Amino acid sequence: MIDLKTMTITKLHNHLKAGDFSVKQIVDAYLKNITEKDGEIHAFLEVFDVAEQVARAQKMFDEGKATLLTGVPIAVKDNILIEGHTVSAASKMLENYVATYSGTAIKKLADAGAVFIGRTNMDEFAMGSSTENSAFGPTKNPYDTSRVPGGSSGGSAAAVAMDGALVALGSDTAGSVRQPAAFCGVVGLKTTYGSISRHGLIALGSSLDQIGPVTKCVEDAEIVFSFMKGHDPLDSTTIPDAAYADKQNSKMCQVRPPGLTIGVPRSLVEGQGIDTDVRKNFEETIERLKKLGHKIVDIELPHVKYSLPAYYIMLPGEASSNLARFDGMKYGLYVGGEKLLGDYLETRGAGFGPEPRRRILLGTYVLSSGYYDAFYNKSQEVRRLIAKDFEDAWQTVDVIITPTTPTPPFKLGEKTQDPVSMYLADVFTVPSNIAGIPTISVPCGTVEREGKSLPLGVQFFASHCREDILFKIGKQFSGEAV
Ligand code: GLN
Repeated sequence: MIDLKTMTITKLHNHLKAGDFSVKQIVDAYLKNITEKDGEIHAFLEVFDVAEQVARAQKMFDEGKATLLTGVPIAVKDNILIEGHTVSAASKMLENYVATYSGTAIKKLADAGAVFIGRTNMDEFAMGSSTENSAFGPTKNPYDTSRVPGGSSGGSAAAVAMDGALVALGSDTAGSVRQPAAFCGVVGLKTTYGSISRHGLIALGSSLDQIGPVTKCVEDAEIVFSFMKGHDPLDSTTIPDAAYADKQNSKMCQVRPPGLTIGVPRSLVEGQGIDTDVRKNFEETIERLKKLGHKIVDIELPHVKYSLPAYYIMLPGEASSNLARFDGMKYGLYVGGEKLLGDYLETRGAGFGPEPRRRILLGTYVLSSGYYDAFYNKSQEVRRLIAKDFEDAWQTVDVIITPTTPTPPFKLGEKTQDPVSMYLADVFTVPSNIAGIPTISVPCGTVEREGKSLPLGVQFFASHCREDILFKIGKQFSGEAV
């Protein structure tokens, strides 16, 4: 009997290596779950025919060439290119677009023998915090199907939570891996900007995007990251070599948990709109960390409160520029109109849903001549101040914590009419994308709502290239072997 509930990458690997079951048996067990549950949850936009990948993975085991990821079923957010498969970004614009190459992270995982099981639902072009902005209908939270799974990688988080895959990939521009991970009771990792190649990720905000894993445990996130990371000549923003990481490491090489100093940005976590149960859970989380031997101190990050407003200037600017390529000529949808301008208007009018349109309008405005300095440039100045707040904080603390989300999973439809309240769902996750630093969301208990237990997450922040600290404290906090 294969127990998927408690499965981890290491356990799976040991079972496959010992011959307790075959790659096909394990993949079939996940596929069965998808068949049984996905009619209601709608985590997947497509489930792949995996026969060839399964045979290849099994061969790697048989020939003694298996890696830890060989045979591991991985679901992939529908904005990451896998050669030969449709990649729609959950948009009508790319509904029938087939990827002509695989992203670098995908290639690395494929080389390691991973089995890509299907593509997962998301907010259109990764814009949203609930997966309700998908052009193909929302995903539901496996813990309570009247609630959202979070977004924009809601399909990926729901897929792992319902055991439709052991691992899923998401993309995180302002929280889209961590926020849905928190809402679905799983682990979500956003690594240092530039640590994982963005080649083959459909761009949203190029200075903020990172691909990241959603997993059942912290160790699994660490394993997947170790396979995906690294410099890539096809992404000039990847960190060039190990020297930078080493420099960061030597700055804080004294870190040996237990015994970290953990900073709590009080005025941020006690700000408006934070649910009382989330606050209570956060205080309990702090107590747990103290019991584990860590020192908790209050800190100030004076400019971090401007993260969300700065993000909603810089992101639409970058998004409007990235989405300009969808003009009916190069990729995906084409709707003919009168003359060339008519083609553009018809295609873009038919292809983009309301949220991309809203951001294109905003973004075009903040980048326009005469307004660029007042808006986009200003947001970059604020960004520098926010990054500096974190740099200053690392002088006195090793890790910073906040809740991952200000509320538990909310109801489907609750925030769709009010974009600003939807934007506020990212209040704790945006700052790390702005500063480019790594963060991990780890499950930290549940709250009761209408007789259902809903998951919450705590978020750990570390300095650039210090994912190792996040893994150590994350594992210790979750009771995993450190
Ligand atoms: N909610 C954020 C947005 O809508 C998250 C984006 C993301 O991380 N992809 O922009």
